[in-house]
Amino acid sequence: MVRRVIVGDMPKIELHRHLEGGIRPATAWKLAQTQNIDLGFADYLSFETAALVREPIGGLDKVIGAMALTRKILASAAAIEEVAYECVQDAKADAVKLFELRFAPALLAKVSGLDYPEILEAVSRGAARACAENTGKVGEGKGARNAESAAKGLPAIEVGLICSLRRTSPQPVNAAIVKAMLEAKSRNLPVPLVGVDLSDNEWTADPETFAGLFDSLREAGFGTTAHSGLNTSAEHLWRTIKLLKPRRIGHGILALRDPALVDEIRRRDIHLEVSVLSNWITEAVPSIQGHPLPRLLQAGLSVGINSDDPGLFGSGLSGEYELLGRVFGLSGEDFTAINLNALGSSFLPKETRDKVRKAYFTVPEAEDRREKAQGPGKAGALNQGSAE
Ligand SMILES: [Zn+2]
Repeated sequence: MVRRVIVGDMPKIELHRHLEGGIRPATAWKLAQTQNIDLGFADYLSFETAALVREPIGGLDKVIGAMALTRKILASAAAIEEVAYECVQDAKADAVKLFELRFAPALLAKVSGLDYPEILEAVSRGAARACAENTGKVGEGKGARNAESAAKGLPAIEVGLICSLRRTSPQPVNAAIVKAMLEAKSRNLPVPLVGVDLSDNEWTADPETFAGLFDSLREAGFGTTAHSGLNTSAEHLWRTIKLLKPRRIGHGILALRDPALVDEIRRRDIHLEVSVLSNWITEAVPSIQGHPLPRLLQAGLSVGINSDDPGLFGSGLSGEYELLGRVFGLSGEDFTAINLNALGSSFLPKETRDKVRKAYFTVPEAEDRREKAQGPGKAGALNQGSAE
């Protein structure tokens, strides 16, 4: 079993978290008051009860519907900036050292009325503000490691942004977002835009529709990922891989249904951004114990662990690690291997990835031996030391 103290302080890599699913309910309530938005609840507690989805409620579409409750508050550049800031702060509190945050400009434009360049800038500004706060206490007892990073001249966190194109958006909307992404590349946003994602219910559109947009972004140097193989079929994954040629796949847990597909994912070195809690809540798997994570790892696939929508699920990345340690018996070494998979598959520049690897994922041999000799009881203290 992995103890919470170890999991909480363990340096992590997270590549799959949605800004729209990362809104803290308390922040939604506060921003609704300041922006005069009626959330339709008389008091905070009844709002929070409706805004949190802690267990299955009837499938993916119902969960997406619940997310719409808090999304209403993303009605201005200031609100979008604040939520982006908090998403990065929350990642820092979970000791995430390299973080990719994704957001859907089409959704944010609909709620806020802002144009796409304004949205990209607001998210980037909020993320940059959190990155600049190296020494701030970002969670109970979690500030020490960030202060430690600052003392060594390292940022507490490295961040890249991903734009999610929606399968349900009209094609001209997605084309306009891609145009804004390409233009932003030359504007040097304070936190860079590094990739594109395809989101929304996979039954609604064929990947062929998006192949041209993915090609133009790939040619411009953006990383590519797409939600696929979650509540659909192995055939959907095949088409996604062939038509979009993504470097990563959001979830992809149905790959195991087809051994040839597993071989193809391994051959192309496609990384799977997995989120066990989310997969259970959206009913992609019948139970947490029944999640194929251990089998994906045994198949030799590159798999990472992600929180997906922590604001909606009332969870966090450390909670997810703790759950996986408890249910699947994943060890500290397993988590390190998983994080190194994710780090190698990040869309951030190689020099940034190398810097994070050197700072947080190199355990000096002597300390490694001590940790093994002293057993799990002492591992927490050694784990803190291993970040030197
Ligand atoms: Zn997702």
